[in-house]
Amino acid sequence: MKELHENVMYYEYNYDYPVLEEGKGSYLYGPNGEKYLDGSSGAISVSLAHGREDMARVLYEQAKKMAYYHRDIATSTIINKASEHMSRLYGMDKFCIVAGGSEAVEIALKMARLHFVHRGMKTKHLIIGRWMSYHGYTAGALTVGGNPGRRAEYAPDLYNDCKICPPYCYRCPYGRECESCDVECAKALENEIVLRGAENVAGFIFEPVSGTSLGAVNPPAKYFEKIRKICDTYDVLMIADEIMAGSGRTGTITAMEQFGVRPDIMTMAKSISGGYFPIGVAACTDRVAKPIIEFGTFSPGFTWTGNPMAAAIIDKTLTIIEEENLLENVKKQGKRLKDGLIALMDKHPVIGDVRGRGLMVGMEFVKNKETKEVLDPSLNFGQTFEERCRDHGLLLMATARVDRGIQGDGAIMGPNFQVSEAEIDELLTIVDTVLYEMEEEL
Ligand code: PMP
Repeated sequence: MKELHENVMYYEYNYDYPVLEEGKGSYLYGPNGEKYLDGSSGAISVSLAHGREDMARVLYEQAKKMAYYHRDIATSTIINKASEHMSRLYGMDKFCIVAGGSEAVEIALKMARLHFVHRGMKTKHLIIGRWMSYHGYTAGALTVGGNPGRRAEYAPDLYNDCKICPPYCYRCPYGRECESCDVECAKALENEIVLRGAENVAGFIFEPVSGTSLGAVNPPAKYFEKIRKICDTYDVLMIADEIMAGSGRTGTITAMEQFGVRPDIMTMAKSISGGYFPIGVAACTDRVAKPIIEFGTFSPGFTWTGNPMAAAIIDKTLTIIEEENLLENVKKQGKRLKDGLIALMDKHPVIGDVRGRGLMVGMEFVKNKETKEVLDPSLNFGQTFEERCRDHGLLLMATARVDRGIQGDGAIMGPNFQVSEAEIDELLTIVDTVLYEMEEEL
């Protein structure tokens, strides 16, 4: 490990960062022979193994052929190919390729707004979001997101802010147990729409499986069925943020197909890039696009919107996921990881919950399993767990303040789609060892 570099702007200044130089398969290597198992694919971003020759070759070939052109002036054959490929797999009709998740969310919000503007319904402008969600760090994405820690400093700058509680069954905001639940968390959307006035509401944005703000939380059965009905009743667009859960991460190309519900607008990033290029995608159905197309322009975009390198990488990543049957491995190794963590619950009093889908798996740490009492926040348990795992050669992500943004620790794991059984077992062994050490010290 190295000192922080004086010319780099870091995320955390009180942290001893591992310095990385190379990636191969599921492992990352430092300049002095340090070796780490990549347990969370960065921020659950890398879907293909590190260091693939074929992915490097796609970047090389596309850069040689044509690295850049601007979408306002021309389009490209590779954009057509990638968009066609996505439409076959994602259940959406129109695709806009951008340079990252936050950009994709910004475009998705504008798709929703312009859909109504061009239908002559100009008062429909509000986007309802959920507390404890994350949709990105740009202003629009922060506004519709509900991660209190990430929003705090910018709260005075955010606008049109409406939120409902998340479907977080482990700590149900409505005090329900799963058996007696009437999906109040979905009904809350109807209340919010009525209170704001349906004539003012354009969309509802959500993560199908909650990402790092809650740590891989699944909604209860029937949640999305109810949400779909409410959105249809009040002419509100359903915006699925599949940036983390989608593109195969949860075992199917979209997480929403597991819930049997088709959203109106979708965002993708992370896994759709394999982990090889900065990419985001906003997509919508023909129904959403129709009034915009009839109007004649969709102007929102950025300098890197519709980039040919991004398109080539999307097409190749999706081809590899299909040809190498990687979704089967996501399901198989995801089950091994989740079952392994559930087995560790018997040995470790601090593991209160294990959750997630496919290779997006979270744990929540508690002081008392029965009462779900959280660990003393001053212990910084999640962050310390992340650091101890790192010291044992495993990189993963802590999730902090999962309980309403004020307390509660956890961790999220998500190795690449090619991860092996032996690597999952190695991850579990390190988690087991680190938790023994930490519990001893408690
Ligand atoms: N939405 C979700 C669900 C995410 O997980 C993230 C990133 N963690 C974003 C949006 C923002 O993406 P990006 O960091 O690429 O801007």
